[in-house]
Amino acid sequence: MSYAGSWNRLPRVSPEAIHSLFQRNLGVPEHLPKPLLAYGNGRSYGDVCLTESGTLLMTRGLDRFIEFDPQNGVVRCEAGITLGEILALTVPQGWFLPSTPGTRFATLGGAVANDVHGKNHHSHGSFGHHVLALELWRSDGSSIECRPNDGTGWFASTVGGLGLTGLIRWVELQLMPIKNPWMWVETRRFNNLDEFWTLNRQAETSWPYTVAWIDCLSKGNAQGRGILMTGRHAATQTELPTFKYSSKRIPVDLPFSLVNRLTLRTFNSIYYRQSVKPQGALTHYVPYFYPLDSIRDWNRIYGRQGFYQYQCVIPPNESEGAIASLLNTIAKHGEGSFLAVLKTFGNKPSLGMLSFPRPGTTLALDFPNRGERTLRLLTELDFIVAEAGGTLYPAKDARMPASLFQSGFPQWEDFSKYVDPSFSSRFWQRVAL
Ligand SMILES: Cc1cc2nc3c(=O)[nH]c(=O)nc-3n(C[C@H](O)[C@H](O)[C@H](O)COP(=O)(O)OP(=O)(O)OC[C@H]3O[C@@H](n4cnc5c(N)ncnc54)[C@H](O)[C@@H]3O)c2cc1C
Repeated sequence: MSYAGSWNRLPRVSPEAIHSLFQRNLGVPEHLPKPLLAYGNGRSYGDVCLTESGTLLMTRGLDRFIEFDPQNGVVRCEAGITLGEILALTVPQGWFLPSTPGTRFATLGGAVANDVHGKNHHSHGSFGHHVLALELWRSDGSSIECRPNDGTGWFASTVGGLGLTGLIRWVELQLMPIKNPWMWVETRRFNNLDEFWTLNRQAETSWPYTVAWIDCLSKGNAQGRGILMTGRHAATQTELPTFKYSSKRIPVDLPFSLVNRLTLRTFNSIYYRQSVKPQGALTHYVPYFYPLDSIRDWNRIYGRQGFYQYQCVIPPNESEGAIASLLNTIAKHGEGSFLAVLKTFGNKPSLGMLSFPRPGTTLALDFPNRGERTLRLLTELDFIVAEAGGTLYPAKDARMPASLFQSGFPQWEDFSKYVDPSFSSRFWQRVAL
């Protein structure tokens, strides 16, 4: 029996078939058990990329560049290529992805299907804003080529469409010009949430990239202390440092989680006290955008039980109160998160009917899976998010209740008209059926 999972290692499923797609093997055989679902590189945390029955269509074999126009920065690639593979070709020619998540191991198809966002959402919107065209394969054997504003609804349903409208075969992207592979980065410490809001408001007006790490174990006057990282692509330089990439690997599956209150407190306090560089420094784009990619299989530190990622978005007027309440509730439960990332989204409306990015503040947290105890905490957090009119990110979810999904994605019923009748996911069965 074959098993499949996603990055947080829960749930694990055993669909009836796992079928790899390659250029020479692109047709999807009719006999494959249904439902079907595309699986990119499993970098989602949860079950958007999983089905418990039917067939997972593995897309990594669809990794060809189809066209690249280095004059205008337009690239067309098959959907199973990773973002890192695109960058390896385009960065030396002066072009960068205009939106990127925190891992370069996501595939192009996965980035479109979750309409992923990066540290520059406030200045550049989400991934879908930069897609010029895509081709969708439907289970009746038809292919649909769609573009933004083509009036058909296929683009808006497929961008952020969680893989449910069919299989994305290729995507054409508009890239962004850069002068070199380096970033100019400044880091500043803030002592509490109030300081974060002030610093962040100023930073957003002058920096295309902003994101903050927060110490969610800190309390009282220090609640939400952390480090704000701002960046921009470096200007033309006469001399650039050399960059040598090194990565480490967590070699084995641990039977238990290394993340506990003691390790968290130690890590957070060291991280908070690290030397910040308000005067700025050049940083290569790889460690700047993808710091976690340098520890291969880092998800193993959470042990075999895996972990829950919890990423919410809170509308602007409710952000300050709700983020403070979320942190209070986490502290009250004696929990903490090793990765706690705070970022404000900009006002550019997302193009997908089910896109997650919207105006407001997003907070992303990881919790080791301690069974009922963790689920109880997450249910309390849901209550705060729902009260504030927010919602959770499907790409990072393994358990949100249908009510929270449906209130947070009010177009879900219109969207369901575009769902391919032979496609489904464990996520969709949980929240919409
Ligand atoms: C370390 C890390 C950092 C991250 N940081 C961010 C971040 O900053 N911002 C952010 O938005 N996300 C972030 N993510 C989440 C990640 O970017 C998304 O989950 C992304 O969709 C994963 O891509 P994938 O190729 O692995 O897709 P999978 O996880 O395999 O699948 C994701 C979805 O895409 C669909 N899909 C995949 N390929 C196709 C296709 N060819 N056709 C149709 N549907 C398809 C699947 O059915 C599924 O619904 C991060 C993840 C990690 C591990």
